[in-house]
Amino acid sequence: MILEQLLKLLTDSSSDPEGQLRILARHTQESLDASFVELRMDGMPVIRLGDGAADARRYPISSGNRTVGELTLAPVPEDDPDQLAAIVRCAEVIYRLRAGYVDTLTGLYNRRRLDMEMEALALSDEPVTIAMLDIDHFKHVNDTHGHPAGDAVLKQFSARLAACLPAGGFLARYGGEEFCVILREVDEPAGVETVERMRHAVSLEPVRAEKREIQITSSAGVAFGSARQARELLGMADQALYAAKTGGRNQSVRSADLSRRRATQLFRKRFRRLLDRPLLDLAWFGQRVIGLDRNTDRLSCVDYFGGVVPVSRPFRGALSFARLGKKTFWVPADERGVRVAEGGAVLRGALDLSELRRVYIDQRASRLYLIDRAGRTLYASDPQLRRTRTIVFPDEAASKTRSLTAVLAAGRGLLVLDALTRRIFVFDRQSLSYRKSWTLPAAGYEICLCYLTTLKLLLVSGADGARLFSPDGSLVEETDLPVISAYDHPLVGLVLSTPDETVLVRS
Ligand code: GH3
Ligand code: MG
Ligand code: MG
Repeated sequence: MILEQLLKLLTDSSSDPEGQLRILARHTQESLDASFVELRMDGMPVIRLGDGAADARRYPISSGNRTVGELTLAPVPEDDPDQLAAIVRCAEVIYRLRAGYVDTLTGLYNRRRLDMEMEALALSDEPVTIAMLDIDHFKHVNDTHGHPAGDAVLKQFSARLAACLPAGGFLARYGGEEFCVILREVDEPAGVETVERMRHAVSLEPVRAEKREIQITSSAGVAFGSARQARELLGMADQALYAAKTGGRNQSVRSADLSRRRATQLFRKRFRRLLDRPLLDLAWFGQRVIGLDRNTDRLSCVDYFGGVVPVSRPFRGALSFARLGKKTFWVPADERGVRVAEGGAVLRGALDLSELRRVYIDQRASRLYLIDRAGRTLYASDPQLRRTRTIVFPDEAASKTRSLTAVLAAGRGLLVLDALTRRIFVFDRQSLSYRKSWTLPAAGYEICLCYLTTLKLLLVSGADGARLFSPDGSLVEETDLPVISAYDHPLVGLVLSTPDETVLVRS
């Protein structure tokens, strides 16, 4: 009966899987009257109660036709098959719950679970150390030994890290060959020392993969502070990791050792030169960047190494454009209104959108977002502009004069920047209903807004520089380099245009 209730609880709730697991473990033991219960999923212990027993028996737990875990019980409940079946069902539910939080390759917690941990941390004031670890020259491992060997290295690296994680520590695969470690240390030297110990421990012996021995090292960035600033600390750790890489790899760098000046230098160093002239309103087109070339007033394709190919006739005073499908460009906002160009020629019969200031196309949702010339109204429409809907702002915003300057789709949200009040409004991308808003902490940032999907940061730029914010509004990095346009490509990286040049930033 208790098990039935627990099953219901587990299936209904997904908010706190570990809390649920603890309840389950307690009740399982009570109702079973077992002296030893151990549940392992994907080779990782989930529940362990009691000290082990000689007469324990193991039961495989499967999901579909795959064995995903193992339940060890003592004494063996031979006489009660129903009870055993209920426990195995519980285990399956646990597996499903866990699956959403575990990275399938390494068995470590995944990014989703890390995000939850971050949210939980932000509610407390305890001191924490947050470290970002990244395997050195991992691409080389893949290139020389192949991807299966790379995968094996990732698995072993993860297992070694997990083995030397101190009690109370948290470890997750951030993505690729990057890992995040959270330690509840009371001071910074202790935190850094633990991270160093972990880094050394994983590199002590070469990793065996595909009958080869591969020596690996890793670099780490470490930040220490109040858990309340967990997100900021993660960003700082990432910055310090970058410094550890540029400083020669196989080392840890403390965020506290990075001065503001050094941080700005690093930020700039990532901006690799792409073009010796600025491009307005960038987009990605096949293998090339496309942008409005200020020198020629033409839409121009720029290849990786700076070659420029004009792809449209000149549009004097054009402000912005967007790409749709393979060859359609919308070029709004010269005095004669919005033009629609396809393959470089202006389309005949295109709608007169003379009231529009800015167009943004959300390719995935197949929608166009349009801001009117006064920057007061935001419309959403289908790509052919056959149906247009006005997006309704909350009352608090409607009462003030707005100057909408940018629209951007990010995850499930649609972000809209009001340059005058410095407010970022978030709407649901599907229903277009209002969700929330927050105010940028500093004035003067009104030109461009860009959500860096790969870094999960918001880039806001004005005449005196650019700033990076985390989505909750806290400042992560700033530079005095003004950015007039930006485009974030999930594979290639971020392309930024400054008043002097257009540069590629690898993310
Ligand atoms: P650095 O020392 O600067 O970190 O260099 P790096 O080569 O480690 O870094 P880079 O970011 O250039 O390359 C990371 C590589 O990790 C690229 C990608 O192919 C590889 N990778 C990411 N995820 C996986 C995975 O799940 N399996 C394998 N085999 N490779 C992966
Ligand atoms: Mg690496
Ligand atoms: Mg990396």
